[in-house]
Amino acid sequence: MSHPSNSYYTVPDEKGCFGEFGGRFVPETLMPLILKLEEEYQKAKTDQSFWEQMDYLWKHYVGRPSPMYFAERLTQHLGGAKIYMKRDELNHTGAHKINNVLGQILLARRMGKTRIIAETGAGQHGVATATVCARFGLPCIVYMGTHDVSRQAPNVFRMKLLGAEVVPVTSGRGTLKDAMNDALRDWVTNVDNTFYCIGTVAGPHPYPEMVRDFQSIIGKEAKQQMLEMEGRLPDTIIASIGGGSNAMGLFYPFLDDRDVNIIGVEAGGKGVDDRMQHCASLTGGRAGVLHGNRTYLLQDDDGQILEGFSISAGLDYPGIGPEHSWLHETKRAEYVSITDQEALAAFQKCCEFEGIIPALEPSHALAHVFKLAPNLPADHIICMNMCGRGDKDIFTVAQALGITMATTD
Ligand SMILES: *Cc1c(COP(=O)(O)O)cnc(C)c1O
Repeated sequence: MSHPSNSYYTVPDEKGCFGEFGGRFVPETLMPLILKLEEEYQKAKTDQSFWEQMDYLWKHYVGRPSPMYFAERLTQHLGGAKIYMKRDELNHTGAHKINNVLGQILLARRMGKTRIIAETGAGQHGVATATVCARFGLPCIVYMGTHDVSRQAPNVFRMKLLGAEVVPVTSGRGTLKDAMNDALRDWVTNVDNTFYCIGTVAGPHPYPEMVRDFQSIIGKEAKQQMLEMEGRLPDTIIASIGGGSNAMGLFYPFLDDRDVNIIGVEAGGKGVDDRMQHCASLTGGRAGVLHGNRTYLLQDDDGQILEGFSISAGLDYPGIGPEHSWLHETKRAEYVSITDQEALAAFQKCCEFEGIIPALEPSHALAHVFKLAPNLPADHIICMNMCGRGDKDIFTVAQALGITMATTD
């Protein structure tokens, strides 16, 4: 496919760069693996039988297409723009992660890999990977920081039920960043039989491109559904951002539709200021190198990576996918932040008005919809990505609201 030179589909270039972001900052020993992966992915990408397999599993195993839902009562309540939700929380395993995992595991099988490794923070990507590995009878090893293992016990148990081995990572502060480092080390050591399944649009090239392509099913469906339901494209699309995969998945098919406003919502935690109690890499960080690519990061004056903070464990990543950094610099997309308190309020309103318990991550996107919608005309269409369900978050929410769960009244 060829695109005009001002198209947003001309990236990444052959070095995996999105403008000055992205690339491949890896040790020499990893280079041959990365090049082989890129070659195999490019082959799969243009192989119709690969996409036929994907389509079959998306339909019968994941439950795609996910519905496009008009949130009628929230629209009435806010009294402005028309609000639609892309219902990716209805996917098998409860979020968008499985869209991408399925693609990477099918690729691993094509490459003859017999062992799958992954890293996980909140555990959602670990659960999705363990799920698809069980489906294909592949051994699955998930690296997880010790800090995350103790605060995400239900997901650790889920992974074990699904037959995965969860390896607690004690280095650093025992969070996602450290788990990613250990997974990379494992990959270097077990090159021959192992495939590293990354959970967001980060890592060295080709991962940001590959994960984006697998998640783009969200935006492709959304576009078609909006045309069917409204006869036109939405005016504004909005998604929450941890590493940025659900957002990239929704945004990508709309990048050259210049009339569509694109908004990414980062986790503002306790507020984006110099206390650094947030995870807003674009609105509160600066460019540097982490996990094999150059992008915006949370860092101190000496370039030390900072941990970040958010009520939502899934948004708790100190970086952001390089393509978002590029969309930010080229101003094709706008990036904003939403605080824990704003996300919590949106979470409650969504339960109350729509009968949908959202995950805390998309609650951030929804909170921004709440800010925008009342000031927009009734014929303005907003489409937000409801990328995960909130079952995993009810304990966090109860605690934040000061509610004791076990009551008899
Ligand atoms: C993992 C996760 C996120 C954050 O990851 P992205 O790569 O930014 O999409 C957001 N929402 C849910 C429900 C998640 O599970």
